[in-house]
Amino acid sequence: MDKPAPKTDVFQANRDRVAPLLKKLRADGIGHMIDGKIVASISGETFETKSPVDGTTLASVSRGNAEDIDRAATAAALAFKSWRDMGPAMRKKLLHRVADAIEDNADDIAVLECIDTGQAYRFMAKAAIRAAENFRFFADKCGEARDGQNTPSDEHWNISTRVPIGPVGVITPWNTPFMLSTWKIAPALAAGCTVVHKPAEWSPVTADMLAKLVKQAGVPDGVLNTVHGFGEEAGKALTEHPAIKAIGFVGESATGSAIMRQGSETLKRVHFELGGKNPVIVFDDADLDRALDAVVFMIYSLNGERCTSSSRLLVQASIAEKFIEKVTARVKALKVGHPLDPATEIGPLIHERHLAKVCSYFDVAREDGAVIAVGGKTHDGPGGGHYVQPTLVTGANAKMRVAQEEVFGPFLTVIPFRDETDAIEIANDVRYGLTGYVWTNDMGRALRVADALEAGMIWLNSENVRHLPTPFGGMKASGIGRDGGDYSFDFYMETKHVSLARGTHKIQKLGI
Ligand code: NAD
Repeated sequence: MDKPAPKTDVFQANRDRVAPLLKKLRADGIGHMIDGKIVASISGETFETKSPVDGTTLASVSRGNAEDIDRAATAAALAFKSWRDMGPAMRKKLLHRVADAIEDNADDIAVLECIDTGQAYRFMAKAAIRAAENFRFFADKCGEARDGQNTPSDEHWNISTRVPIGPVGVITPWNTPFMLSTWKIAPALAAGCTVVHKPAEWSPVTADMLAKLVKQAGVPDGVLNTVHGFGEEAGKALTEHPAIKAIGFVGESATGSAIMRQGSETLKRVHFELGGKNPVIVFDDADLDRALDAVVFMIYSLNGERCTSSSRLLVQASIAEKFIEKVTARVKALKVGHPLDPATEIGPLIHERHLAKVCSYFDVAREDGAVIAVGGKTHDGPGGGHYVQPTLVTGANAKMRVAQEEVFGPFLTVIPFRDETDAIEIANDVRYGLTGYVWTNDMGRALRVADALEAGMIWLNSENVRHLPTPFGGMKASGIGRDGGDYSFDFYMETKHVSLARGTHKIQKLGI
């Protein structure tokens, strides 16, 4: 009989894996990738990135400003023509090679992401694999990027085609930064655009890895440039640069407004994926066991630092007491711990400022007159980092700040509702409109509610399960535009109309 395989200590293996990577990171620091070269800022300025686990410095990072952005945008502009004109077959091959390189380094990316962002390994273990999938998906779409339509009229063929818009800026946030960056960068490159990426200043580590892997895969110099730095400096300069034709941005709604202002002089095309205060609506006829799993997963996974999190639980009054009881038991049992420990469900929050923001909502809840049923305190976790107790707020109503504002942490607000009309009204009574989740076994009701919800993405009897060809994006203050599948090409490309005459139509004769 085969002996059972020895139980591996994944936590220890993760620590062993990350230690030499961190040693190298500390020694090398993080520079910009501009025109295929790792360079320091022209000013020589740097900033430090620290681990949310224990506050130790992970790396000294080059702090880019307008001069560095100018260098990167110029490199992207110079590389644009040859990248655009490269045949789609070659582009496809290169993007698949990027995916291969990401897969080969997936374990390193996972542990570094855990240490840089505080995200738990159980969620990060597969993040790089999903990032590689983003590259493969768009690699396979290179051949159709230029596709258009023929809409013939009596005397013309009217053909549309798409051409890449030019060098673009991609500005990303710190939540699942590696995966999220690839989601924007892969379609831009597949479309034939060159890119200047400005990653979030709180999570520069894996953006640096991505830049290096893209180079290692053989993507020509200048096609992907990465400039590190702060939003108000490097980010702002990118949105104002005349060579940059469009900005793909993921981040807070207020930053989206700022970018729109900053980009107005140069008439930037913008694509915004912004904040959310997403409802999960549980009706009394739903499969309550599955609903419970999804409710807990969609707010307490990824530290609740997730734009699509269902941060408002709308539960039908007839089942509210029992359902809240079950949610309460689950939340109490969540494991807060070191992000490299595979048992951990909630790691430390990204930054002390973000921890302070999340914790400020404990008082907001109390002042509103709601009840903190679970949590409501910081947590003394390993390394003494930015840990917080998973928090459940009950006794809330739709008008309270805890029901209106994005907390972006492991913080769930429960609001009971009477009936379908009431549920829809509460769900829509926020400035955001990213996702909505509906749990009911009444198909007619599911469709009615899906139709009435003001949200860009709705899942019926499901948590958020991403399918890459589908449109991703929000309504209202949650965003402008859609990503995914062909929708991404609509943003990164210009649609061009070409009309071919049959030579039969009458042309007006003037000046005779
Ligand atoms: P943020 O807006 O503070 O920062 C995002 C990026 O914008 C960073 O790289 C930052 O440096 C840069 N930036 C800041 N000010 C800028 C400016 N004036 N000009 C140009 N760039 C600037 O957001 P965050 O705190 O890093 O991320 C959390 C937010 O992102 C949450 O609101 C979350 O909901 C949202 N988010 C949305 C989605 C989505 O798909 N809708 C996905 C992930 C995160």
